[in-house]
Amino acid sequence: MATDCLFCKIVAGEVPSTEVYSDEHTYAFQDVNPQAPTHVLIVPREHYADVVDLGRDAGAAAGLIAGIGGLAEKLGLEHFRTVLNTGSEVGQSVFHVHAHVLAGRPMGWPPG
Ligand code: AMP
Repeated sequence: MATDCLFCKIVAGEVPSTEVYSDEHTYAFQDVNPQAPTHVLIVPREHYADVVDLGRDAGAAAGLIAGIGGLAEKLGLEHFRTVLNTGSEVGQSVFHVHAHVLAGRPMGWPPG
């Protein structure tokens, strides 16, 4: 666990969250500022700063992808968008890698 990491504290239960899905490798919870009717964040239980850092550990990366699949199955999602912001210039504000899983409204492509 990284000290001073908000999402490590959420995984550890030290900061409250609304759990949506959980497995051996991942924890998923409601985003506090939802951008769609379904807006869930899913994170690896271990600390990785971003997707590049996560990608150095193939097992952990696979765990996050499997978790996204498990989350989608649990929520019955067939159409959803998955976003991993990397770097502050594109909006990453929490440096514990997380996938946004968004669904429930029309979403254009490419994104704005
Ligand atoms: P990003 O901007 O990609 O780093 O995404 C960070 C996300 O974390 C944002 O969508 C925030 O709304 C969300 N967020 C920040 N603090 C919390 C929290 N305590 N519980 C749940 N979601 C949070």
